[in-house]
Amino acid sequence: MTPVRTALVIGGGIAGPVTALALRKAGIDATVYEAHPAEQDGGAALTVAPNGLNALELIGAADAVRAAGRPVPGMVMGDGKGNRFAEFGGLPGLPASHVLARADLNRVLHDHAAANGVRTEYGKRLTGAEETAGGVTARFDDGTTATADVLVGADGIRSTVRGLIDPAAPDPEYTGLIGLGGFASGSGVTPDPDLMYFAFGARAFLGYWGMPDGRVAWFSNIPEPDAAAAYASRTTPPAEWLERLRALHADDDPGAALLRHSGAEDLFVLGGIDIMPPVPRWHRGRMVLVGDSAHAPSPSSGQGASLAIESALELARCLRDLPGPSAAFTAYENLRRPRVEAIAAAAARTNKEKSAGGPAGPVDPERMFGFVQRFRVDWDERVTA
Ligand SMILES: Cc1cc2nc3c(=O)[nH]c(=O)nc-3n(C[C@H](O)[C@H](O)[C@H](O)COP(=O)(O)OP(=O)(O)OC[C@H]3O[C@@H](n4cnc5c(N)ncnc54)[C@H](O)[C@@H]3O)c2cc1C
Repeated sequence: MTPVRTALVIGGGIAGPVTALALRKAGIDATVYEAHPAEQDGGAALTVAPNGLNALELIGAADAVRAAGRPVPGMVMGDGKGNRFAEFGGLPGLPASHVLARADLNRVLHDHAAANGVRTEYGKRLTGAEETAGGVTARFDDGTTATADVLVGADGIRSTVRGLIDPAAPDPEYTGLIGLGGFASGSGVTPDPDLMYFAFGARAFLGYWGMPDGRVAWFSNIPEPDAAAAYASRTTPPAEWLERLRALHADDDPGAALLRHSGAEDLFVLGGIDIMPPVPRWHRGRMVLVGDSAHAPSPSSGQGASLAIESALELARCLRDLPGPSAAFTAYENLRRPRVEAIAAAAARTNKEKSAGGPAGPVDPERMFGFVQRFRVDWDERVTA
């Protein structure tokens, strides 16, 4: 098979621009096709972990991401009464995780991609794709098409490309948790700026951290066994949610104070949280998945974006070194599947703990996070089949 020279990257979230940049670094010309008509605003905050930052270093985007966020090297895990199970200032020898708004991460990655010659076409929702002997043609909902050597599905947890690769692919699964977030002002709670706090309350889980402007950002995970009720939660008025959250965290310290000083106008309801169960087929012919379309761990891992970034780099490395898509995609899946599935399994255990009021035993940070955060994409090493 002839080497891959061009790529269509479907989806301009996090994996999309990073994949296009990594492919360019591997000598492959890539264009991103994003369904939304423009860059997305708003959304919650997310953490980019040391392993994600290290992969971003390889495409020259790490400094810009760090500049848009704030370092939060350590974490505290405790119960809802102020008791601590574990506290650590980050794993020895690793740089700090950075927390930033999702919209800022998207903007920084898109700006960096554009500055490096990556073209993004907005308002292009993929609806289908056909393969020929020499390429693959994508069809978009505006009636246009585009053709290249390969097509990369960076189109998120509700991926269209996944269904094109395997019509029998599983759907996302509901975790049993609803996600909500907000900001507290004047609560008297002053978190250490170097720490992120994870409080396993008796009835719900609360994560929080201090913002440079003095507010405290928080997110809550509420157990809800009924998936339909969880998905419908987005239509519940924020003021009603705030009352419910105040009741759920009424006995929690400092959850009760944070909720008392939060306003409904700042509340965001993310709704039922989904994950991807293991995806049996990551590629077929000239099409392949990257990011949440292939592996979406629970947000409890704090790793979805970092793993998407790692996978983008590994996919590009395989396409650089192996002759043709089939060998490259097989090597890519072999490299990535064990790691992402181990991290997803660990996050699923954390989800159970969120419903059960905390971890069953002592927390060993190195055992819990070492294999996750110490991983490095070895760009210079040649991939063999
Ligand atoms: C509540 C919550 C908190 C999280 N917190 C963290 C965290 O702290 N740290 C972390 O690392 N991860 C976190 N994650 C996970 C992280 O958000 C995802 O892993 C990450 O966004 C995956 O990137 P992606 O590019 O694969 O998918 P997405 O970011 O979902 O991007 C997919 C893109 O594809 C586009 N698209 C979809 N369908 C089509 C189509 N047919 N045609 C064209 N375009 C299409 C979409 O519009 C979107 O722009 C969190 C997730 C949630 C839900």
